[in-house]
Amino acid sequence: MGVSSTRAFLTGVAGQDGSYLAEQLLADGVEVHALVRAEDGPGPHCPERVIQHPGDLVDLAGTRDLLLEIAPDEVYNLAGLSSVAQSWAAPDLTAAINGAGAAALLESAHQLQELSGRPVRFVQAASAEIFGNPADSPQREDTPIRPVSPYGASKAYAHLITGVYRQRGLHACSLILYNHESPRRPESFVTRKISAGVAAIATGRAAELALGNLDAVRDWGWAPDYVAAMLLAARHHEPDDYVIATGVGHTVRDFVAAAFARAQITDWERYLRVDERFLRPADPVALIGDPGRARERLGWQPGIGFEELVGRMVDHDL
Ligand code: GDP
Repeated sequence: MGVSSTRAFLTGVAGQDGSYLAEQLLADGVEVHALVRAEDGPGPHCPERVIQHPGDLVDLAGTRDLLLEIAPDEVYNLAGLSSVAQSWAAPDLTAAINGAGAAALLESAHQLQELSGRPVRFVQAASAEIFGNPADSPQREDTPIRPVSPYGASKAYAHLITGVYRQRGLHACSLILYNHESPRRPESFVTRKISAGVAAIATGRAAELALGNLDAVRDWGWAPDYVAAMLLAARHHEPDDYVIATGVGHTVRDFVAAAFARAQITDWERYLRVDERFLRPADPVALIGDPGRARERLGWQPGIGFEELVGRMVDHDL
């Protein structure tokens, strides 16, 4: 840990990670500025003390002017189309927001650093989806980048261009985030769909849970832990890329079983239905990350394990 920051700018405050990040930065005494899209608003969990700026990441010039005016010490780029499933429906928009949006923000941060003569620290939220269907497990920072979805490809570009700006002298870090969940996840993600679905069955509001690929393996962690890694990376003396993961994989079926167990339903197989509408054109079968570098250099480790994560989400939905 080196510097202490006074002002941060973040995109994506309306989402799960953005809201947790804003909370953690405020608790740290940081002045927090957020880009807020008119169509999203600040989201349900944006803290009141966040200074909101209307804008849109796809408005490249507008976002640059805003960044130069706010002149933050730290920039966190969390905005983007966040769902693999959605990205198949809108590959061009995914590229514009997740890819070009990141490039423009990096360029703006670099301009700010040049103009002000002060260092600017940049954190890009990348994703395990950049690895696609990796041959080796667990994956590390040097695992070949071979995405299999428009979402993965857009995040791969953002990841690589972050490295380009790091070589150009910006303190830019890309965090390869594995799936990270919380009760603030929307139901478009399988974890929240399961926790909400199980709660609905337990309380007699639903009769079944329809899912897609039950055999997919994911490395699921607790979102606030992953946001804490962003602060550690931003403030570390040396910028780098980091895999942020638990290192432990579970199947979708494991998640379902743990969720029903938490709701004290034992004969759960009868509520489960596989619906091919939820299968994907291409789906990485096993994404498990090795967080060794983050542990060694940043002193980061996940605080919440799988059972506890599922339990917290189900309890919330019950
Ligand atoms: P992702 O890993 O970022 O795409 O996160 P998701 O939570 O959307 O998906 C995780 C895994 O769950 C993927 O392998 C999906 O194919 C699988 N899955 C199985 N059934 C469902 C479902 O009904 N909805 C979603 N979103 N994913 C599902």
